[in-house]
Amino acid sequence: MDLVIARPEGLYCPPGNFYIDPWRPVDRALITHAHGDHARYGHAHYLAAAPGAGILRARLGDINLQTLAYGESLEHHGVRVSFHPAGHVLGSAQIRLEYRGEVWVASGDYKLEPDGTCAPFEPVRCDTFITESTFGLPIYRWRPQREIFADINAWWMTNAEAGRASVVYCYSFGKAQRILSGLDPSIGPILTHGAVEPLNEAYREMGVALPATTAGTNATREEIPRSLVLAPPSTRGSTWMRRFGDHADAFASGWMQLRGARRRRGVDRGFILSDHADWPDLQTAIDATGASRVFVTHGQIGVMVRWLREQGLDAQGFQTEYGDDEIDQVAPSTAEATA
Ligand SMILES: [Zn+2]
Ligand SMILES: [Zn+2]
Repeated sequence: MDLVIARPEGLYCPPGNFYIDPWRPVDRALITHAHGDHARYGHAHYLAAAPGAGILRARLGDINLQTLAYGESLEHHGVRVSFHPAGHVLGSAQIRLEYRGEVWVASGDYKLEPDGTCAPFEPVRCDTFITESTFGLPIYRWRPQREIFADINAWWMTNAEAGRASVVYCYSFGKAQRILSGLDPSIGPILTHGAVEPLNEAYREMGVALPATTAGTNATREEIPRSLVLAPPSTRGSTWMRRFGDHADAFASGWMQLRGARRRRGVDRGFILSDHADWPDLQTAIDATGASRVFVTHGQIGVMVRWLREQGLDAQGFQTEYGDDEIDQVAPSTAEATA
């Protein structure tokens, strides 16, 4: 029996009568993580991993939220449900479903390289694995994050010595905190946009160590030339950004691997940093589940399904409305993505 099927409202578990990351309002929603395409408004009841509670409330307000610690389980209509770290953003989880001896795992979004801002990914054995495939093409191979952080700090240092601010555009939930965790605060002050700071607070409340930050609006004339500014991409060219004067700017995303995406962004630098698994890590993760059946929910569905079938697995795509936290910022052209 299929423990998860695609319905117009979202991925549905028939025996459990609940949905996973549904895109239309439903009675019972199990949420893998708080990115907007996975955690939406309007469900009557939410179930999520405990470390993500603060973020979910910061983004969705006063929702009817029940949480489980990672690894803790509950039974609903005979389906045993548990959440396991996905290593993507704070509170992100793979959802394990067990019914009459059969095990399915829905990954949401995931990343294998551990970082200091969320619990590291844990492989979970299952019969059927539901995977994302955001960067499911052989061209996507990430360098170790410490090298990327060293590049960002060196760039910041060079700008600070030249007396100009360094602005890094990044997604305010997940990416901003990960970059923050890798910055060297001895170089200068770290300034944040108002969209980023509430998320930083939610991370700090969960015990994630992040360097001190100051609201960009409170920065002094003396601080600005040595500062590094974290802001969402939408602030580019805004009045808010004008206070930093003549500054260097950069964009941090997995899509920065594509030359065209860098060019379209028109920033001085592109830092290739993603909170999603690259091509080798997608394969490592899928292999580690031991699953013989795989569903691909979003990203490079066709390429991944074909590749998995060549490996002898029973693979197919799931039609979903998951976008991507990074695609929203720098969508690659189709030609580039399939090159
Ligand atoms: Zn995500
Ligand atoms: Zn996603």
